Amino acid sequence: MRVGIAGLGKMGRVFADRILAAGHDLTVWNRTAEKTTDIAGRGAKVAASPAELVAQSDVVLTMLLDDAALMEVFEGENGLLSADCKGKLFIDSSTVKPATHQALAKKVEAAGGRFVECPVGGSTKVASEGNLLGFAGGDAADVERARAVLKHLCRRIDHTGPIGSGAALKLAINLPLLVYWQALGEAVALCEGYGFDPEWLVELFTESSGGNNALKVRGPTMAKALSGEAVPATADLKTMRKDLGLMLDAARAKGEASPLVEQVFASYGRASEAGEGGLDCSAFPAYWAKQGNKLR
Ligand code: NAP
Repeated sequence: MRVGIAGLGKMGRVFADRILAAGHDLTVWNRTAEKTTDIAGRGAKVAASPAELVAQSDVVLTMLLDDAALMEVFEGENGLLSADCKGKLFIDSSTVKPATHQALAKKVEAAGGRFVECPVGGSTKVASEGNLLGFAGGDAADVERARAVLKHLCRRIDHTGPIGSGAALKLAINLPLLVYWQALGEAVALCEGYGFDPEWLVELFTESSGGNNALKVRGPTMAKALSGEAVPATADLKTMRKDLGLMLDAARAKGEASPLVEQVFASYGRASEAGEGGLDCSAFPAYWAKQGNKLR
């Protein structure tokens, strides 16, 4: 199958690796062209524009930062929708507003294509093992067609209902997780001054009811950060803050209060303004315990 991927960020480049390894004919496009060099050296074709990506693909998978990036890639100059979309399947895995996916689906259908949303749960490491959770919204037949690509990325693909339901579920599942990193920061701050070994402390949290699935994956990098080591960002603070903003929008749209999300959104905002937007989520607790709480 000819697969196109637009967006070779932290997650998109893992998607590209797996689709290539599965033997598909892969073409990629990324706004910053240098990020395509590595995968091109391993056999992927590189499209000069999103429109060219559509021309070279049967299925186009997008993995972009946010709502604005997604709309730009679909609707901008030489965007995906400027190509002949007839018969093409578009799958978007970005974490965006449900309303954005609903609007996009209508535009894709008007252009003769089909659209499936499939935001994902899991880290880049989980993605590299093909073990993401996929929240697929759209027509059942389109979701079935999308499985041929998504099965290489996800260990579980749930059909969540119509377009918008997958995006809503992704935000809901992310909510406790994003609040959790703040909670861990505050927990670790309570442990300051006792000389606890970071590796032991994180292992104990992971074993206890204070741990969760994310800590099982990210515990080792959290321990490194607590020891003062720099850790590479695979899911960064500014992206987590973007997601919290989407949750606040979604709650407001339903007339619901979300006091925890409001607090954490403000906290991650202060850290981002202090120049820490690129911090990995697992490094946030160490940052909070040492400096973040002083910004209040
Ligand atoms: P990232 O590393 O920041 O990559 C963002 C991608 O979006 C890059 O390819 C970037 O292109 C592109 N982009 C940004 N603005 C653009 C614009 N205006 N026009 C065209 N392209 C634009 O982000 P990520 O961590 O891969 O996350 C991607 C999406 O997946 C986000 O919605 C995130 O919430 C979601 N997600 C991430 C994870 C994770 O663990 N990282 C897990 C689940 C879901 P450039 O290279 O040119 O900047």
